[in-house]
Amino acid sequence: SVGGKPKIQRTIALIRPDAYNQRRGSIMDKITEAGFKVALSKEIQLSKDQAEDFYKEHKEQPYYEELTNSMSKGPLLALALAREDAVTGWREAIGPTEIDKAKEEAPNSLRAQFSIEGVGINQIHGSDSVEKAEEELEYFFPSQKTVALIKPDAYQTK
Ligand code: ADP
Ligand code: MG
Repeated sequence: SVGGKPKIQRTIALIRPDAYNQRRGSIMDKITEAGFKVALSKEIQLSKDQAEDFYKEHKEQPYYEELTNSMSKGPLLALALAREDAVTGWREAIGPTEIDKAKEEAPNSLRAQFSIEGVGINQIHGSDSVEKAEEELEYFFPSQKTVALIKPDAYQTK
């Protein structure tokens, strides 16, 4: 940024249940390597209803059932990630929505590297805009939001 401290932005990352169960350590390493700080983190078990509500805009899509089952099959990890340009930076890091496309076009992306055999749903979510990031921060970390905005560095994971 011009003249002064870089503007730290926050975004929401979700590590879906299968990857959280099987690959969490390597995923956390990649997050750190990409320069993100974990401002807040929380393990969450979504009910099927909550997963359906979170993805309600996708209700008519053919992947909706697998997506909402995949999101509610066990605990997931919700992360508030902080970095300069976190929203677009995180979207770049995770790569394309569809796993096949991610593997072809962005083999180093997290969605390409951390797909799960037999699961058609990518394993990592990222907020798709600054507005969505704010909404999702409020959804997953309702009361801690303001504190994390002021001092992201004080909230790194243990
Ligand atoms: P993104 O997560 O990249 O913003 P969307 O918001 O369009 O993508 O979709 C939400 C989630 O639904 C995706 O992350 C993915 O898990 C699933 N999804 C979307 N489109 C497809 C598809 N064509 N095939 C399989 N899963 C999909
Ligand atoms: Mg999206």
